[in-house]
Amino acid sequence: SLNDWCLYREELEQAYIRRVQIEQRLRQALSLGQLTMVFQPQVDDVKVVYGYEALVRWYDDELGQVGPDEFVGVAESSGLMPALGKFVMETSIREFSEFLGAQGKMWQLAVNISVLQFLQPGFANDVLSLLSRYGLSPKQLVLEMTESLFISNFDDVLAVLNELRKQGVRVSMDDFGTGYSSLSLLRTLPLDELKIDKSFIDGLLDDHKVQNMVASIISIARSHQLELVAEGVETEGQYLALMAMGCKLFQGYYFGRPAALAVGPKSPH
Ligand code: C2E
Ligand code: CA
Ligand code: CA
Ligand code: CA
Repeated sequence: SLNDWCLYREELEQAYIRRVQIEQRLRQALSLGQLTMVFQPQVDDVKVVYGYEALVRWYDDELGQVGPDEFVGVAESSGLMPALGKFVMETSIREFSEFLGAQGKMWQLAVNISVLQFLQPGFANDVLSLLSRYGLSPKQLVLEMTESLFISNFDDVLAVLNELRKQGVRVSMDDFGTGYSSLSLLRTLPLDELKIDKSFIDGLLDDHKVQNMVASIISIARSHQLELVAEGVETEGQYLALMAMGCKLFQGYYFGRPAALAVGPKSPH
């Protein structure tokens, strides 16, 4: 009806206005250095931490807390991804290495990467020189990518991935099983790890279909010799069910929430 149409138009307009706002405020926030990174622990089968995933956070005075699910997409479509990606990579590596300096561990750092970043000239070199500047081994870095933008320039992305992997950097397919082309990407991308999407973990305990899908993903990972991480694990029941199915690496609120890394007590001055 006309009424529905008007409502729909209004929603579209509001969505557009918010997008424009986010784009303007994000551009400013990036130049003023107002974004931050938090880190969520990744644990093994006996709940011992082996690494952290870096997640970006943005609090804006007018918009409040804006989630990366919303503003990363805006950055990608408005030319801000190079600046955002650079901030994320530099800040994650620096803060993580300071944290490790205090801990003396060989933990891994997982960083989310937009496919657009692979197309920036010099990306592989920038990453490798950051790692060496902050004393991390390339083997400690995992790049998490989603298939969302996997359409064009595929060969260019592949070349950069191969260059980084030759140096020891690992590649993880995020949100595995949620996209249209998960299986074909498995064949074409050089991968080291799959992350089972949280939506599968949510349904794990009460939906047999979901159980079968998780079992399939676990067996795909095994037969392709890929690491497998279950993410979004919130309860002991989910953890135990995944363990029983043969999953050995985990991430989720049950083990630890994303938080700033504590760099240990500063010496008093
Ligand atoms: P993702 O990479 O799949 O990250 C997992 C998301 O699930 C994170 O949300 C994390 O905070 C949340 N999470 C982790 N464990 C649990 C749990 O047990 N329960 C629930 N309910 N949630 C859990 P976040 O930080 O809001 O990030 C959303 C998405 O935004 C990420 O999904 C990722 O695709 C993107 N993103 C986040 N940080 C970055 C970044 O630095 N760069 C890029 N390119 N994308 C990022
Ligand atoms: Ca991720
Ligand atoms: Ca994910
Ligand atoms: Ca996601």
